Amino acid sequence: MKTIYLDNNATTCPSSEVVAAMMESLTQCWANPSSIHRLGQTVHQRLDLARESASKLIGCKSRDLLFTSGGTEAANLAIVGSLQQQPDRTVIVTTRTEHSAVREMALAQAMRGVEVIWLPMDINGVVDCDALSELLRSRAGDIALVSIMRANNETGVIQPIEDIGLLCREHEVRFHSDAVQWVGKLPIDVKQLPVDLLSFSAHKFHGPKGAGGLYIRRGVRLTAQIVGGPHERQRRGGTENVPGLLGMGIAAELATQWLATEQWKTMESWRDAFEQAVVEAAGNAAVNSSGATRVWNTSNIGFNRLEAEAILLMLSERGVCASAGAACSSGSLDPSPVLMAMGIPAAQAHGSVRFSLCRETKKAELDEAVGIVTEVVTKLRSTMTTV
Ligand code: PLP
Repeated sequence: MKTIYLDNNATTCPSSEVVAAMMESLTQCWANPSSIHRLGQTVHQRLDLARESASKLIGCKSRDLLFTSGGTEAANLAIVGSLQQQPDRTVIVTTRTEHSAVREMALAQAMRGVEVIWLPMDINGVVDCDALSELLRSRAGDIALVSIMRANNETGVIQPIEDIGLLCREHEVRFHSDAVQWVGKLPIDVKQLPVDLLSFSAHKFHGPKGAGGLYIRRGVRLTAQIVGGPHERQRRGGTENVPGLLGMGIAAELATQWLATEQWKTMESWRDAFEQAVVEAAGNAAVNSSGATRVWNTSNIGFNRLEAEAILLMLSERGVCASAGAACSSGSLDPSPVLMAMGIPAAQAHGSVRFSLCRETKKAELDEAVGIVTEVVTKLRSTMTTV
């Protein structure tokens, strides 16, 4: 059976060039990059090149990019490293629609006495900047970090991080943005953005899992969370994940090339057409966050009064891979906490399915998926009425 993979916000397929670079790393370029002999130094140079490629993708200098094991570690470090570095600031400001890498770490810090302030948002999941502005006016001196994602993993909603960052700057408060669902899909230049910290992950742009990065603006200090050798300029101990990071370097180069084609503009219209066709054909369905600007690849459709789990299983039987909410929470029967926090009614949140494209997605696959989704939803609705 043919597979139509529409779960790219969970992970993307590594490009063949990435796999080749990783294989070469495992078979030939395997020495320890900290070793002073020729083999070690060759690997060291290759890592430098990978860091340059990843830095270029986000617009920073190589020395301002810290390699991590992915988005979760980068976000965790931004939060805990900022709290520990500024002991007289004991407040974290974030939202309930953040990925669990931020949300759960904020909750873990709350258990240790940190005050977590959850910003309000509208029905589309866009953060209320006026509320942030008011908060900063009264509490700026207490806040260790504001952490707001660039793009939401479930809905694709884009947060106004330009405005948020400027507010933070005005009040001299650090700002971290989780850009895991943005980097590699849309252009970004951290030089032009008022962010202090920005995290990303290779497996969301056709790189390997277990590799990512944290951009750290010059002068921003973080307390290291993985302590060991002097790796990553004393900021993260441990021998580097050489195959993963070399794979990420190649993935970053390929993403930079693809972004220059601006093909996402066409693909956004494919996503819009897909949504429109599904909503029309399936009936009693709505696109979550349709009132806000979203990343071109993400579509989250709520099929009222159906269970997402049932839809996903039937889609899977017919070769369509999609998901409900974040990959790390699949298996849970609760509706997505992100959609619930946005104020989406439970009957819609329960039946919400995320379809996410990648740069390799074909228009014909989307057209075929419309038919399959419609068939599944119609079938489930007919069972409902006969029960
Ligand atoms: N942040 C967002 C928005 C994500 O979508 C993800 C992964 O799904 C992460 C963070 C975590 O990244 P990683 O899987 O590299 O730890």
